[in-house]
Amino acid sequence: MLSVTFLGTSAARPTVERNVSAMALVREGETLLFECGEGTQRQMMRYGVSFALSEIFFTHFHADHFLGVIGLIRTLGLQVRTEPMRLYGPKGAKKLLTQALQLGVERVPFEVEIVEVKPGQVIRDAGSEKRDAGSGMRDAYEIHVFGTEHGGGSVGYALREHERPGRFDPDKARAAGVPEGHLWGKLQRGETVELADGRKVSAEGIVGPKRPGRLVVFTGDTRPCAAVVDAAQGADLLIHEATFGEEEKERAKETGHSTAREAAQVALAAKARRLVLSHVSARYSISAEELVKEAREVFKETVVAKDGMTIEVPFAD
Ligand SMILES: [Zn+2]
Ligand SMILES: [Zn+2]
Repeated sequence: MLSVTFLGTSAARPTVERNVSAMALVREGETLLFECGEGTQRQMMRYGVSFALSEIFFTHFHADHFLGVIGLIRTLGLQVRTEPMRLYGPKGAKKLLTQALQLGVERVPFEVEIVEVKPGQVIRDAGSEKRDAGSGMRDAYEIHVFGTEHGGGSVGYALREHERPGRFDPDKARAAGVPEGHLWGKLQRGETVELADGRKVSAEGIVGPKRPGRLVVFTGDTRPCAAVVDAAQGADLLIHEATFGEEEKERAKETGHSTAREAAQVALAAKARRLVLSHVSARYSISAEELVKEAREVFKETVVAKDGMTIEVPFAD
């Protein structure tokens, strides 16, 4: 199972209906948090997102994207958490997040590691040495960091699952004389098996070609740019900021943001399967119809995020 839940979808400041940026991604029972705007912990409670998370990914350090980490870490401390926490962000993360964690007089009773990331970096290990043995974290996917254009050093993140084994065809296995049992398991893993009569049967032809895993891309704040198009090639889900509509396209350019239409052009160029618009200016209503309309003229499979919205990401096949 892979899904995302939007915890905050407003640009710059909260409104009555939208909180500032945060999004939870849940994959096979593991929860990852992307951004942590002010009030995120309360949104997590409200929308049933687990506090048992070990990693938060920040795209940049405008206040609407990270102030919530101060309170969230305090609450985790009160819950007598002992597991370490990892915070990822671009250059400046160490200084800013250290300041955020030192604010207040309470001590954080668990280890917090701050990791500065760069475009092009692939986050694989998830600090496996510090995790419970057998937790299996990040053995089935990677997180790719890509550069974005938001006035200096911002990044986005792409969660890319590893390829899955091809489909196993039981009829073909039987036809090849392989008896049902442990030999089938070996074939499924791509191994060649030896039969009782000494014949060797390879997986080729019995197991289909490898199948792609899923790709979920989260841009954070950005102008539309080639790096996002590259990172989102064939994405199952592209979550792109769309702060403004067409009538504010000059302002989008000046402030390092995108219009809904520009986000749609990125999704189209990347041949993404679905687009979710988020980080919506307070000037638009909760339905943000004009943004959806402008985007759909370019890319049909578009919706606008709302706080509490959960989107499942199925396999393409
Ligand atoms: Zn923002
Ligand atoms: Zn920003």
